[in-house]
Amino acid sequence: MRPYVVVNVAMSADGKISTRERRQVKISGAQDFVRVDRLKAGSEAVMVGIGTVLADDPSLTVKSEECRTHRRNRGVDEHPVRIVVDSRARIPPEASILHKGAGKRIVVTSHRADPKKIAALQQYATVIIAGEDEVDLTAMMDKLGETGIQRLMVEGGGTLIAGLISAGLVDEIYTYIGNMIIGGKNAPTFVDGNGCILESEFCRLTLIETHRIENGVLLHWKVVNPEKKK
Ligand code: NAP
Repeated sequence: MRPYVVVNVAMSADGKISTRERRQVKISGAQDFVRVDRLKAGSEAVMVGIGTVLADDPSLTVKSEECRTHRRNRGVDEHPVRIVVDSRARIPPEASILHKGAGKRIVVTSHRADPKKIAALQQYATVIIAGEDEVDLTAMMDKLGETGIQRLMVEGGGTLIAGLISAGLVDEIYTYIGNMIIGGKNAPTFVDGNGCILESEFCRLTLIETHRIENGVLLHWKVVNPEKKK
């Protein structure tokens, strides 16, 4: 069975997730940071696209000692499995996600990736091949499901999220909207990609909850009928 997919992003009041230079920016505060850390700790795996790895070099580790202890007590690794979607195996061997914090890593790549790069990556991560030119996200989810991952958190960026949404693979979304305007037509948004043309193609959402956190607002959405595309 494919994993249940929860997307979490922070965006500015004008819907941007970073600057036009794709520089990482602080959109939320300490309280939201704790929420995101707990969401991560409650997931079996956490995923980003290669664009986010190259831009931000995240480690995606669980930061709170309490959450890590809780995970250990549940008999699982301190950190969720960290997954990178990377068709061409461009991930730098020194990327933080491959080294920081104990636990498993998976790099999902395609047949387009250089076998030498794949062999080098296998020192640090399990490599899954899904797709010819780019990662086939549906095939990837099938394979991740076979490894036993049932609950997956996706942390971005906008290109990966767009692909997952258009493939009908997202179940829930958290968007934290921070109190700033970043601007710029080329600054990434929460869902980039090609977008829809027809209204019938829109991804429809049900609002589950809204919650003020510090000077921003958290919106919690459920995707209407994602399984109809599965
Ligand atoms: P991304 O979504 O992290 O990664 C996109 C890349 O994934 C693609 O360019 C592609 O590269 C690879 N990919 C492989 N197969 C794919 C498929 N089927 N569909 C979609 N992508 C596929 O990169 P991004 O859109 O450039 O986002 C990075 C930006 O987002 C950064 O500026 C970062 O700071 C920001 N960000 C913000 C937040 C937030 O919450 N505010 C969170 C995360 C990231 P290949 O073709 O090489 O495989």
